[in-house]
Amino acid sequence: MNTRTTIASLSREIATESDAYRHLEGLRWGDTPVCAHCDGTDVYLIPPANGVSRKTAGGTMSERRVWKCRSCKKQFSVLTGTMMHATKIPVRTWVLVIFDMIAAKNGISAREVERKYGVCPRSAWHMLHRIREAMASPYALMFQGVVMADEAYIGGDPKNRHAWQRVERDGRGTDKTPVVTIVDQDTGEVRSHVVTGLDQWKLGQLIVGNVDPTGSVLVTDGFKGYNLAASFFPKHEVVDHSAGQYVINGYSTNRVESFFSQLKRSIDGTHHHVSVKHLHRYVAEHDFRRSTCKVSDTERMSVLVGQMEGRLPYEELVAE
Ligand SMILES: [Zn+2]
Repeated sequence: MNTRTTIASLSREIATESDAYRHLEGLRWGDTPVCAHCDGTDVYLIPPANGVSRKTAGGTMSERRVWKCRSCKKQFSVLTGTMMHATKIPVRTWVLVIFDMIAAKNGISAREVERKYGVCPRSAWHMLHRIREAMASPYALMFQGVVMADEAYIGGDPKNRHAWQRVERDGRGTDKTPVVTIVDQDTGEVRSHVVTGLDQWKLGQLIVGNVDPTGSVLVTDGFKGYNLAASFFPKHEVVDHSAGQYVINGYSTNRVESFFSQLKRSIDGTHHHVSVKHLHRYVAEHDFRRSTCKVSDTERMSVLVGQMEGRLPYEELVAE
């Protein structure tokens, strides 16, 4: 299959629920299904009772693909232990929404999911947040080499708010929330952090926590808050925008700036308003898309499916 997967081709490929299960199984397990309880691989597919689909307790036909493990004798499916465990939304819808989210540059809104797939607003919103949670990178490896760091303020324009809604979040007289993004130039991986304040201790901790400074170059703008972090690096290149500089000695912060403009466009254009409480998930969604921008949408799907274990309960999502 050489043709590029699109939402239309995927939609044809997974015409039924059991196709959608099979599709996810391929992404999660490849050719070797793994027991969700004991990691055993001596497993078999429980044959459907009537040859096509299984009857559920409620008497409706289920197209779930259920496996059984010969070692621990337990049943499982490709959904067990993932964000889709016990979902009432069709798996086919999940697969299509995940694909939509991976492929759309600005992401998709809960409203679009509601309209396109006919799920209720609450479920649409919950689904998208669960997918974003899975997109949060496990941060396995330290960055090294040429690394860019920059900060941006994300959120509503203070002049559009009532006075009582304005909160001084940090010294810059804005209720926008600072986001610090670090980019590894070699791998293209992007890691962003939503922070409550921007001082050199915070920035130092974030940068040294994600980058091995040995032999690395830190590229930042002229913000003094980077000085402590920079003291750990053998080389610090400062691209001073206020002096009209955009590239210095071949180094620039363009990549991280283009990341921020995409993020702002998405939050202003697609989501309109994102509360501070959920901002880290939107940011993780953008990190994921940017970090995987060199691979195909199908490969991105497999990366995401590999990260989707554990799920975010609705109660946790709406808790203060
Ligand atoms: Zn087992």
